[in-house]
Amino acid sequence: MAKNKIQFQKGISIQKFMLRYGTEEQCQKQLFNMRWRGGYQCPKCGKEKYCQLKSRALYQCNHCRHQSSLTAGTLFDHTKLPLTTWFLAIYFITQKKNGISILELSRHLGISYNATWRLKHKLMQAMKERDDQKPLEGFIQIDDAYWGGVRKGVKGRGAKGKRPFVAAVSLNDEMHPVGMRFSVVKGFQKQELTDWAKHHIKAKSVAVSDGLACFKGLADAEVFHFPVVTGGGAECVEIPCFKWVNTMISNVKNSMRGTFHAINLKHLPRYLAEFSYKFNRRYNLESMIDRLAFASLVTPPMPERLLKLAEQRW
Ligand SMILES: [Zn+2]
Repeated sequence: MAKNKIQFQKGISIQKFMLRYGTEEQCQKQLFNMRWRGGYQCPKCGKEKYCQLKSRALYQCNHCRHQSSLTAGTLFDHTKLPLTTWFLAIYFITQKKNGISILELSRHLGISYNATWRLKHKLMQAMKERDDQKPLEGFIQIDDAYWGGVRKGVKGRGAKGKRPFVAAVSLNDEMHPVGMRFSVVKGFQKQELTDWAKHHIKAKSVAVSDGLACFKGLADAEVFHFPVVTGGGAECVEIPCFKWVNTMISNVKNSMRGTFHAINLKHLPRYLAEFSYKFNRRYNLESMIDRLAFASLVTPPMPERLLKLAEQRW
């Protein structure tokens, strides 16, 4: 039997990772090269000559003496953790297929649960913001889905205490999934779907969904929408044009149930974003380390009080 290209890719061994990102200097250098790709440039006067202040990731312009820090204005802003801890966290988060719980991550990193919680949620936020800038395009399967709140006797779309989310999977010409976006929504209303699609689906894309009325809202976001009326429930899964979106929904649910025992519902958007981010880049496990480090550099600082708020945007 042919090996699955994705499952059998090598990724990067922890040994190789430590050789590359094992010291603070290496991590600083890596971030420096990402932040100032064309070489350092003073943010104040634009000159290129600088000196690095001893033992700190602080750079001083030789011309105007302006000092700029490597991490100021990024997700790493004001962190008390060494960059090696951040990179090691990025390693575990990106290389473990089903994700890693905060408790397990805190054991690997040797830092407190609370510090790990902040670090993990910041990195999940970076993944979310990065993907939110890349709308899905082409042929897309869309479905409504729910997380949590299972109550006896109440099933399906009417059940209370469940958090609704839109599940979208884009497919290539061979009908293989190439991208996914799972977003928590306030509910399945037409306007909500229009607003969501304007952010997450490129205009002129083609979308199929079931006959749920809210999906008519996709057309108002310039998406060519084709509803396929189904009986709903389990038989829906059997319909080929929903195969991938249904598979992805159950993969996400199984993976999240297995790894994260109690997800605070208000943080569900970040958990869904983590899964999607990794899926969207699954063809190159090794490069995901630098890519997430870069995403963190371009994500604005996220103070703890913001981290703890429920995500208001999609
Ligand atoms: Zn300067």
